[in-house]
Amino acid sequence: MAARLGLSTVFSLGPRKALPLPGRLPCLPAPGYPIHRHFFTSLYSPISPLQLARNLSQVTMSASIYGTSQISSYEEELAAAKKAASLAARLCQLVQAEILQSDVQSKADKSPVTVADYGSQAIVSLVLDMELSSAPFSLVAEEDSEDLRKDSSKEILTRITDLVNSTLSSDPLFCNITMSEEGVLSAIDKGKSEGGSSGRHWVLDPIDGTKGFVRGDQYAIALALLDQGKVVLGVLGCPNLPLASIQNTNQNVEQIGCLFSAIVGKGALVQSLDEGSSPTKIQVTTIDNPVDASFFESYEAAHSMHDLTSNIAKKLGVKAPPVRIDSQAKYGALARGDGAIYLRFPHKGYREKIWDHAAGYIVVTEAGGVVTDAAGNDLDFSKGRYLDLDTGIIATNTNLMPSLLVAVQESIKEQQSASLL
Ligand code: AMP
Ligand code: MG
Repeated sequence: MAARLGLSTVFSLGPRKALPLPGRLPCLPAPGYPIHRHFFTSLYSPISPLQLARNLSQVTMSASIYGTSQISSYEEELAAAKKAASLAARLCQLVQAEILQSDVQSKADKSPVTVADYGSQAIVSLVLDMELSSAPFSLVAEEDSEDLRKDSSKEILTRITDLVNSTLSSDPLFCNITMSEEGVLSAIDKGKSEGGSSGRHWVLDPIDGTKGFVRGDQYAIALALLDQGKVVLGVLGCPNLPLASIQNTNQNVEQIGCLFSAIVGKGALVQSLDEGSSPTKIQVTTIDNPVDASFFESYEAAHSMHDLTSNIAKKLGVKAPPVRIDSQAKYGALARGDGAIYLRFPHKGYREKIWDHAAGYIVVTEAGGVVTDAAGNDLDFSKGRYLDLDTGIIATNTNLMPSLLVAVQESIKEQQSASLL
């Protein structure tokens, strides 16, 4: 039996309840400096709220590790990314609470997920646009507005716009902003970038793990920044992941909702999704004997071959059952040592997208872990919207990686020979 983690198991007493949403804080007055952005200029108020807040504290600048002319410690970008992911998480929590309260019939309806996907992307795009003071930014994201612009989507677009506006209004820094429907569509369409090996590109999965989202289980808002083809920062908002380790699912789960973050060369952190929470440093486990290890994999068998991973675990001598979690919450849990290994082997023909791994990759590597494809190659995020991979993705600590690679390669060979018989 695989362990499973979600609202239904975390809140195991009684029926599922709507998540408590943060209380409304007073709106800060909009400062009087000029409107600075391009395509939204007529659509929202003349503020750059985080920039204003940041002016009060010094941001340390240091040379980029990539030696470009850009001088950056990525701290400003990280603050914007955290704000964007937290607000998007708030929007998703609202929608998930509605889904869980609705009857079975409407749960089969895809529109709530669609609304949350688009709404989350619009929020992240808007916050980044408002907070990043330099030239127009590039965003590689999962959704675009084509379907939403159809006449048949009018109702959904109105719902998304309402959700975006009520999310913005719940934040003291953004509550003066009201988006029009066209503004929401434009924000979503910022995500059409192709990415690549030069310049900077933000990478977003607005709701990673939509199947988990609908089930009431795990999902994540995953946002990363590429600089010259390398992941330089990432944040993972995981609204349903307990803040304490999930290693022992019997323990009292007091706080739910994690925000993982990492900047290249500076380590990985976790904090609560609550406003003003303090981050703490995280590290992958130091386990070196696979017998003591446990492994994460997708909850959905359609997303990763459970028979192959079971064989890999057996070869390694892993005793614990697989821990099946939706979304990049797996990377977050691995990064803080809740388990030792993450195995992902999509069925033949599936092409991995960069937004499904970029944020998780840097959170794990900055926590001291290693993330590679099945042949042991580093992941290459510089090739556009897709990752070119040898077979699958594996992640663990440096102690276990050599034996994991051997077990993976043997198991793949066995699977290939069996399919020839
Ligand atoms: P997980 O939560 O690990 O099951 O992964 C969720 C992500 O898998 C989704 O965000 C999708 O982008 C991606 N996905 C969708 N279809 C497939 C598939 N057939 N195989 C592997 N991954 C998929
Ligand atoms: Mg995804």
